Amino acid sequence: MNTKLTPSGFDTICLHGGHQAESNRSHLTPVYASSTYVYDSAEQAAAMFMGQEQGYIYGRWGNPTINEAEEKIALLEAFGLTDESGNPLKLKAILHASGMAAISTGVLGCVKAGEKILTHHSLYGGAHEIFEKTMPGLGITATISDFHRLEAVEKAINADKSIRLMYIETPANPTLQCVDIEALTTLAKKYGLTVMVDNTFATPYLQQPFRWQVDFVLHSTTKFLNGHGTAIGGILIGRDVQLMSTAMTKTHRLLGGNSNAFDAFLLVNGLKTLSLRMDKHCSNAEKTAAFLAGHNAVANVNYLGLMSHPDYQIAQRQMKHPGAMLSFELKGGIDAGRKFINSLKLCTHAVSLGTCDTLISHPASTTHMGVPREQRLQYGITDGLIRMSVGLENIEDILNDLGQAME
Ligand SMILES: *Cc1c(COP(=O)(O)O)cnc(C)c1O
Repeated sequence: MNTKLTPSGFDTICLHGGHQAESNRSHLTPVYASSTYVYDSAEQAAAMFMGQEQGYIYGRWGNPTINEAEEKIALLEAFGLTDESGNPLKLKAILHASGMAAISTGVLGCVKAGEKILTHHSLYGGAHEIFEKTMPGLGITATISDFHRLEAVEKAINADKSIRLMYIETPANPTLQCVDIEALTTLAKKYGLTVMVDNTFATPYLQQPFRWQVDFVLHSTTKFLNGHGTAIGGILIGRDVQLMSTAMTKTHRLLGGNSNAFDAFLLVNGLKTLSLRMDKHCSNAEKTAAFLAGHNAVANVNYLGLMSHPDYQIAQRQMKHPGAMLSFELKGGIDAGRKFINSLKLCTHAVSLGTCDTLISHPASTTHMGVPREQRLQYGITDGLIRMSVGLENIEDILNDLGQAME
């Protein structure tokens, strides 16, 4: 058999990274629908349990289809980066049942009762809620700081010695707020904090937080990584391979938020076209943002590729491209927002993001309905705000649909 070439280009990793030879010569890694694995002997079983021999033991602990997704994503996040000694960076990833499961494992694997999380207000709703509602019952609380004001962040760290973890999400939902990963990580490391970054909106194609001294990156793979809206999933990737293989694996296995072979199979196949999809998503988003910015029914557009976005400079520095997510405010407020959504003929009205087709949602009447209006406005989620995950349709069709819905 030929020795395989180590994939080096990003696109090549999308296609071949993590692929494991399979005894029946199947081209694609099959869906390993098996809860348990068979031993050859009593001695082998004992050796596997002691970790002396590598191999699959039990489905919650590992699965070949899942393993392929994990290795592929770890390679993508490490692409082109080096460690302290100048060698190619090695990362380890653990696939979860959802983005929220990855967050649970990651946070509970780093923070103990009595310790605190330092974070910012523009987080994914589920992350905000688990910090607010579930973690406090376990003795873990979150302190909110303005991550745009480094002096305020440093003051917050100095004021509370129990802060253990800095939790960053950038770009963030739905205003596309962007914070400076490098500056925040440098500050966190000065005080010995662990840093975790939710990289869902950007994907490793547009942003690689491990370029800086970030310890963990996570994704909801439900979004752009799967890319087709076919499965819920989440991934936690860590720089400390030893820790990821021991303590973090233990936390993951015991919390039980493992993924499954079918969802992993869908994810692996979605990942094959990640760079192609992202290029088209991004170019369509750019054109959509320009169209909206010039439309007289639109009060303003939040897109990181527009110089009018307050975080334009940060995005330029740390992202390869400002991405495929945008939001915009209609002049007529909440009623105009509802009317617009009801008039769409092509774009899909649904929450979630990162699918091949364009998804549009109205946060004020759906995802953020439960947030008190005052607080919602403070976060920039105004009454008429529309969020868009720009898809891969022909741009003319997207723009025509938006145009007719605003008439
Ligand atoms: C969707 C999402 C999550 C949660 O992921 P699930 O797969 O829905 O559990 C976390 N962070 C961000 C930024 C998201 O968009």
